[in-house]
Amino acid sequence: MRVYADNAATTYLSDVALNTLLDCLKNYNGNPNSLHTDGQIAKEKLDESREKVAKALNAAKPNEIYFTSGGSEADNQALISAARGLVKKGKKHLISLNIEHHAILHTLRKLEKEGFEVTLLKPQPNGSVDVKDVEDAIREDTALVSIMFANNEMGAVQPIAEIGKLCHEKGVLFHTDAVQAAAHLPIDVQAMNIDMLSLSAHKFHGPKGVGVLYARNGIRLINVIEGGAQERGKRAGTINVPGIAALAAALEDGIEHMEENNAKTIALRDRLIKGLSDIPYSQLNGDPVKRLPGNVNYSFEGVEGESLLLALDMYGIECSSGSACTSESLDPSHVLIGMGVPIEAAHGSLRFSLNEENTEEQVDYIIEKVHQVVEHYRKISPFWDELEKGEREHVI
Ligand SMILES: *Cc1c(COP(=O)(O)O)cnc(C)c1O
Repeated sequence: MRVYADNAATTYLSDVALNTLLDCLKNYNGNPNSLHTDGQIAKEKLDESREKVAKALNAAKPNEIYFTSGGSEADNQALISAARGLVKKGKKHLISLNIEHHAILHTLRKLEKEGFEVTLLKPQPNGSVDVKDVEDAIREDTALVSIMFANNEMGAVQPIAEIGKLCHEKGVLFHTDAVQAAAHLPIDVQAMNIDMLSLSAHKFHGPKGVGVLYARNGIRLINVIEGGAQERGKRAGTINVPGIAALAAALEDGIEHMEENNAKTIALRDRLIKGLSDIPYSQLNGDPVKRLPGNVNYSFEGVEGESLLLALDMYGIECSSGSACTSESLDPSHVLIGMGVPIEAAHGSLRFSLNEENTEEQVDYIIEKVHQVVEHYRKISPFWDELEKGEREHVI
């Protein structure tokens, strides 16, 4: 059996997205910045897509939607714009969370080198930040709060509306990386007082290499890519009309089916959580309820997540140990460590990210195989041996 359970790393193209992509590649091949007919036909498609995305987020105006190359670029541009834009007003302090995606954390590190001060908050043990901690961290010179909508590794959902309200009251800009939330959680940038927001198409069944930066009117974006005057001068480069149209179609479709998809995915998620819960010395990371519909992140003591992942792959099960972006290093996940999971437990972690296309049969197969591979690797693990002999203390 083949089971794809790595939807937080990327999703497969939906038929809606694929058909839109193919249609645009064939029929809307003009450059939307050209004044001739072909260009204007492509521009209509672009405008229509921008309107769809604005509607999906409840943005006040379509011109608050900027198309980027993905979530990483949107995150970079949001933080750089807020920081460099407000430093002239004496604001040089930025607040974020230690479990953010590296697109946020590494951009903050770059800004720190430019002289900005960064406060990285730590979430509570369930992975969710305490709004009081955000409030306490805000200073006179705070330019921006950037807190992700939902975490890509252990699925924790953050209290975005409360943080938005707080930032609005304090006059601080609020950005959220909503890459994992889109099409899974309701997003309303106006009601939630979100000033800037990042999205990525390939996380909601759209194509890779295309994303969105929402920036409320009045916020001055700073270019991260210089060149032509596309996207109202804020993002140079010939516009990827097919990718953008497919993004808009996938987002619209995902939101339209969000409730039924979530109901299905949550039932599968909870079945998997329950099925793994009888493995001794293991734990679910993140909140059992306040988590993304498809996310299951589990730690198994005494084994390496990478070994489990590769063994499961042999059985046709595709999952992740931490995040795909860190798969080239064997350091334990900064997210699990950041929320206080002991390092030994973080080393033995697996992330399954399910979606509505998975089945109960697949989940039962995952449960069976995880039991099998954990038992196998524990048998041959010197680390587990030491735990068994009492030479090492259990952390779970
Ligand atoms: C995937 C992801 C990103 C990066 O998006 P890309 O489009 O792949 O650059 C950023 N933030 C989060 C939370 C993600 O899951």
